[in-house]
Amino acid sequence: MKSEYDVIFIGAGLGGLTAASLIAQKGKKVLVIDKHNIAGGYATNFKRKDFEFDVSLHSFDGVVKGGNSYKIIEASGVADKIEFLGHDTLYHYQCGDIDIKVKHQDIEGYKKQLVHYFPEEEGNIERLFSEADKNYKDMSGFLYSTKRFFLRIMATPLFYRRILKYEHYTVDDYFSRYTKNEKLKAALSAQWSYYGLPAKDLAFGYFSYPFIDYLRFGGYSIKGGSQKLSNALVDTIVEHGGEVQLASPVTKIVTNEKNKIIGIESKKTGFVRAKKIVSNISPYAVVSLTGDEQFDQKFKQNLKQLKPSISGFQVYLGLNCTLDKLGVKKDEYIRFFSPTLSQREQFDNLKNGNVFEDKTGWSINYFSNVDDSLVSPGKSSLGLFTLVGTSNWHSLSKMEYREKKQELTQVLIDKASKVLPGLVDHIEVCEAGTPRTMTKFTNNPGGAIYGFEQNIKQSGLFRRFPQKYPLKGLYQVGAWTFPGAGFIGTMLSAKILVDRYF
Ligand SMILES: Cc1cc2nc3c(=O)[nH]c(=O)nc-3n(C[C@H](O)[C@H](O)[C@H](O)COP(=O)(O)OP(=O)(O)OC[C@H]3O[C@@H](n4cnc5c(N)ncnc54)[C@H](O)[C@@H]3O)c2cc1C
Repeated sequence: MKSEYDVIFIGAGLGGLTAASLIAQKGKKVLVIDKHNIAGGYATNFKRKDFEFDVSLHSFDGVVKGGNSYKIIEASGVADKIEFLGHDTLYHYQCGDIDIKVKHQDIEGYKKQLVHYFPEEEGNIERLFSEADKNYKDMSGFLYSTKRFFLRIMATPLFYRRILKYEHYTVDDYFSRYTKNEKLKAALSAQWSYYGLPAKDLAFGYFSYPFIDYLRFGGYSIKGGSQKLSNALVDTIVEHGGEVQLASPVTKIVTNEKNKIIGIESKKTGFVRAKKIVSNISPYAVVSLTGDEQFDQKFKQNLKQLKPSISGFQVYLGLNCTLDKLGVKKDEYIRFFSPTLSQREQFDNLKNGNVFEDKTGWSINYFSNVDDSLVSPGKSSLGLFTLVGTSNWHSLSKMEYREKKQELTQVLIDKASKVLPGLVDHIEVCEAGTPRTMTKFTNNPGGAIYGFEQNIKQSGLFRRFPQKYPLKGLYQVGAWTFPGAGFIGTMLSAKILVDRYF
């Protein structure tokens, strides 16, 4: 270990690792420090008996050679270290009488299915996608431009004008330009749980890039789980002379008398000097590690008003049989089940823990259908997922927590058993991740899984929590800042940070 670095990263989540890799490749001395004993934050794996589980990844949009999102994989130096596995079915959506299977890179087939259910909307569907494609082009143009950052900003009204045009739109506002049909709008935003808000509240600017990226370029898993990506980023950092210290919680961000950043302290390393610190942890934790008194009232007041995202609850199941024994077809991967309630009603139910009857959307991921390297021959794995509110989990006693976790696990297994009769007879491993688990492994407050909520007040280049703090030398990367959460979101936040400030 050195006593001084050019840049220190607090947190080895995807945002921190990607930014560290980009900066190390420029020849700078970087140190990444994480409290956990494995790298990746939410992008990690865990093992139970014969089963390896990916903690978070359901679907990574667009990471195919030639696609826009693949550019960040190449730039971060991991393209030849990992393998992406495409999902034959991007997702399968069921709500009332609507049953739509969206196939891999088949936007035309998807449109045809929509027209099948909504024949009177054919022209609207065509127009909606045509404009969404143009918007995607504008966004990609901005995000992947090789021009200097301020030139990109200057060029936005001319070359990427839809970024500005839609910056105050929710997803529902955008769809409502073309259709009044609520069922169609719900089908179009079937993946809303990936973004943590119903379409009526979710910022279109944040949703619109992955919306088209998934449909045009597909959804992917990482062979061997997302730990492979995190480890590959660590390898690239090390190959370029950087260092990654694990199991080493940062306990202090140190400033001098002029309010300038001078380094960090961690139990394992003691004081380490750097003029630039990049946080990949929540801004609340940054304030607490730096000292409340270092930030002005305006900054603290703004931070207080921001709303963290919702959390999630995932049940990881290892089965002693293959999925076809339960009637699951080989091309199935993600299934979204939605009650006929509006997304807002579902969201309110989720937030309030009212998930017991058919009141909330939920999903199944057939993990081993895409990656059988995660299980032993003859076995299989799947995940059951629902968003859940962040409250009411962290204050429970040990016993109450255990009961609540068990209860919700059972609710999801009961729901899944209706789709997969006989499921319970084959469960060999059952593990659940709760909002409390999310906080335990990332320190994210309330178990927030997507940083700050992506409502229109908190989303977009000019309104998202900034990448630069008011303290000289202190920066932010990852889900809490622009553009936001997600594998591509956090990796892009690293690219934007480096393009703009390093
Ligand atoms: C259940 C679930 C499912 C998801 N599904 C998908 C999906 O299908 N597709 C998709 O694109 N995205 C998905 N996401 C979102 C995606 O995983 C996250 O947005 C992304 O991984 C967050 O990365 P990050 O860079 O913000 O860092 P985080 O993952 O939040 O990592 C922060 C890191 O900081 C470390 N840390 C915290 N405090 C300290 C400290 N004091 N000192 C040192 N280190 C510290 C933590 O240990 C952690 O490693 C999902 C998330 C979850 C939880």
